[in-house]
Order: sequence, then structure tokens, then C-alpha cells
Amino acid sequence: MTLDTNWDAIGREAADILSRYIRIDTSNPPGGEANAALFLAELLSREGIESQTHEPAPERVNLVARFGGPGTAARKPLLLMHHMDVVPAVSSSWQVPPFAGELRDGYVWGRGAIDDKGLGTIHLMAFILMKRLGIRLDRELIFMAVADEEEGGALGARWMVENHWPAVECEYVWDEGGTGSQGIIGRSPVFAVSVSEKTSMVVTLTATGIGGHGSMARGTPVDRLVSALLAVRRIKSGMRFDEVTKEFFRRVAETQPAPVSWVVRRAGNPVFRPVVSRAARKSPVIDAMLRDTITTTVVQAGGKANVAADEASAILDVRLLPSTDPGRFLEELRSAIDDDGVTVEALETVPSPPPSPMDSALFRAFERAVSTHVPGAITTPIQTPVATDSRFFRPLGVKAYGLLPAVMTAEDLETIHGANERISLDNLTLGVKIAADVVREVCSTVSLR
Ligand SMILES: [Zn+2]
Repeated sequence: MTLDTNWDAIGREAADILSRYIRIDTSNPPGGEANAALFLAELLSREGIESQTHEPAPERVNLVARFGGPGTAARKPLLLMHHMDVVPAVSSSWQVPPFAGELRDGYVWGRGAIDDKGLGTIHLMAFILMKRLGIRLDRELIFMAVADEEEGGALGARWMVENHWPAVECEYVWDEGGTGSQGIIGRSPVFAVSVSEKTSMVVTLTATGIGGHGSMARGTPVDRLVSALLAVRRIKSGMRFDEVTKEFFRRVAETQPAPVSWVVRRAGNPVFRPVVSRAARKSPVIDAMLRDTITTTVVQAGGKANVAADEASAILDVRLLPSTDPGRFLEELRSAIDDDGVTVEALETVPSPPPSPMDSALFRAFERAVSTHVPGAITTPIQTPVATDSRFFRPLGVKAYGLLPAVMTAEDLETIHGANERISLDNLTLGVKIAADVVREVCSTVSLR
């Protein structure tokens, strides 16, 4: 039962809000989310909804608003979460200025249009609609906009969890991390809901020793670091299937033509590993769901053409499958490098908590709303290779899911963190429709069917 309202008007309103939201530059660093929080607070207040702000540092603000429900211990709230900060944009590579919030060709353009002000606008519209249409929610609904996600969340979601737990305590979090798409995985639209994340590790390699004069130095720290990095590149991590990825392949098999569907359904079977491995290599996201990955992101040494540096270092961005033991991985890395002159250390390890269940009220509500509004689409769990704010909630027993409820193309998705980020008006409208149904199903007393 879809809400009876003027969806064209709702879509236009969502586009207008998103466009104004984009115009508030919240590039992080420095973030400066205070103005964005003020903008959201004013929109909510116009609807008669009070919001609270929490300020972990000057100009850094997190906003929380609540609606409906007694929020009893038996049915803890559903929390809609998005982040207000965005990654910086280099305007020379854009077709439109990245912070103008332009509406052009049926799209809202600008940094954050997808990640994550688009999802925030969809959440906000669904939240406001409950109030406007006088819908009774038995379970409390929380709207939260956080700071600092793009720089690790220490002043955003993590800070809220650590310092204001009563304000954010909930049964479910609806976050970013997954998306609906078409033309990427199969013939029909696929809504991939993120239910888990990989373990992320930051590893440093440091080679020290004697550099010397550039005209004759040998076996310098730079040489040793280069050899170490080559050894790292030669590491071949094997494919592994856990419960989430097995279920992902079972479900997306439905979108494939025969006989591909037959193979995809059995992707976890060792017999088909070579075929699956070849196919997965073509899609970095799917490949990253199946293996540990290591990417060299920073290399530093030297400063003068004729001086060999005494120290050279590199940083590796490591993402491990939940079943990989970080300690053992480090040992394997050290033995692959096999050089006592190169120290290998984990700076930071964020372990992967158990996945959120696929048989929960929120996951089922996603499935139902998707099949109502996008006939023929399938909903599947995925394990996202990227880190999201959900990682601060899952270890506390909160069921957290990531989904942008829109049908994105490969071209749309490439604009995330890149140039020309944009979302169509149709997708915004669809997103609000799905979000409104999901919220009502999870929070209402009355059954919708
Ligand atoms: Zn994001």
C-alpha cells in the first residue's frame, strides 16, 4: 500500500532541498557541518519537528530529530543516518560548479548528490512525510545527520555512539554502503543492501639504513622499500566465500541468463572457482567481496636529487575478509617481504563485526518496498569493501544496513568521489517512495498488507 500523495510535487521538493543542501560546502577537511545542521534544523522546524544538535568541536555538529513511538525497550527505534560532510571537489574537472546544486537535464548535480546528501534528503523527506500525513508510528523513528564520516567519523557517528548513546540507541540503523543498480550485475535491477564490512587495516612499511651519495649508493632504504613493495604486489590472495557472499551469488543468479545463472548459483563450489575468479576480476567491487586486498596508497622518501635517503616508508590500505585473522595476515606479509631492514606494522585495525541478519524486519521491508516500486528487481545482501559509519553500531548489537534506494547506472556510480556527481529526479522520487514504505512497515503498529 503506497502512500497516497502527490509524488511529482514530493520529487520536486526533494530536488530543491538537495540542491540547496549541496550549496552548503561541507568539504572534509575541514568539514564545517554546522551550517548544514542549521539548514536541516530549519527544514524540520518548519514542519513542527524539534531537533537536537551536539557539537564535538567548533563548527562540527551532529543533529538528531525524533518522531513517533514510545520507544519502549521491546521495540527500540529505527535510526535513519547519513553524513553531512563530503569529499573535496576539484572544480576544473566538472561540467558544472560542484557546489552550485544545479538542476539540469533531470538531474541534481554537485558534490554529495549521491554520497551522502542524496540519501540524507531521501531520509529527511520520508521522515517529514510521516509527520505531514499524520501517520502513527508505534516504533520511534530517529533522523540523524552526522559530521566527519569521510575522515573516519571520530567527530561524527563514533562520537555520538561514545558520548550520546541514549540519543542514538536503536534496534536498526539505515545507513549508506549499498545501492540499487541496473546494467551492472545482471539484466534486472539489483538492490544490494550492505550487511557487513571488511576488516580494514592501515599498515606501514619502513626501511631505514644508510643512504649516501646519489652517485654510488647501493642497497639504500629506497631500494629495500621498492623490493618490499614488489613482494607485496606479488601476493595473490585466494577467493573465499562466506555466508553473505554465497547468498549474494544465489540471489543475483536470478538476474542472469541460462546457463550463466546455473554457474552463478553455485559460485561457492570449488569446481567453478576459476570461472568465477575470471568473471570477478572484471568487477572490482565483486572481486573485493571475495578476497583480501592490499593497495599501496602512500610512498615517501628523499628530497634531493643527489642524496639517497636514510629512510623510506609506504602505507598500505588493507581490507581483509571477515574470516581473515589480522595477526596472521601481518605475519604472512612480513614473510613475503622477507627483509629485516623493513619494519611492517599495523597502525590501525578496525575488525569486522558479524553481519547484520537477512531475516530482520528492516531487511524484509527493503525487499517488499523494492518489489513494489521496482517490479522485477531483486534485493540481495552484500559485503561492502568500504568502511561506513555502520561499523560503530554493529559491535553494539545494532542491526545496520546500507542502501541508497535508487536505480543507479554504472555511469552514475562512477561520479561518487569523482567529477560530475549527480542523481536524477526520478531516482530521488523513487528513493522517497521506498523510504516512506520501509519506515511505515518497520515502525507502524498496523500491518501494511
Ligand atoms: Zn558516504
